[in-house]
Amino acid sequence: MSDADTEPLTVDDELLARARIHARTVDIDVDWDHLEWAVSARAKRRAGLCRWEHSREVATIVLSRAAYEAYEWETFASVVRHELIHAWEYQQFGESGHGERFRRVAARLEAPRHCPSFTEPRYVLRCQNESCDWRATRHRASKPVTTPERYRCGSCGADYTVEHSDSGRTWTCSSGYGGVKAALGEEW
Ligand SMILES: [Zn+2]
Ligand SMILES: [Zn+2]
Repeated sequence: MSDADTEPLTVDDELLARARIHARTVDIDVDWDHLEWAVSARAKRRAGLCRWEHSREVATIVLSRAAYEAYEWETFASVVRHELIHAWEYQQFGESGHGERFRRVAARLEAPRHCPSFTEPRYVLRCQNESCDWRATRHRASKPVTTPERYRCGSCGADYTVEHSDSGRTWTCSSGYGGVKAALGEEW
């Protein structure tokens, strides 16, 4: 056995394998020989996109790893179908948008009409009790984010830690929150 056989599948491998298998079940006349797939580890807002290289006549579907991790599979699969429609349009017409033609195919394939976007939560709350896997997310600096000492884990009642997603900085009380916010300045 070579090393490649024994290496565990990465999240990206799994994402691509599932996306490709799903794509083959979709009733759309895509030229698979002129379709490429990629994973973006950086994309935090767009779940997927489709690029068209006119000179090679190749469409590339780029899927976001963060979206794969954040979404239920059914939602992520609908993103794959959305991007497949773009690939098909590029291959057939040399251009693609979200117009009437796109809308019709999207309705037939039960794909969202608009490029699915998502936002990573700004804050993640995690229980401090190691045997508890309670986790919650917040998009705004609400009270449970700014004054965590006044709240408890929603599952076991222990204290929790708040993490600022972008920086990975954490705090457990309001003065910690203030300190991190001040330290990050413009990166907040
Ligand atoms: Zn789109
Ligand atoms: Zn807990």
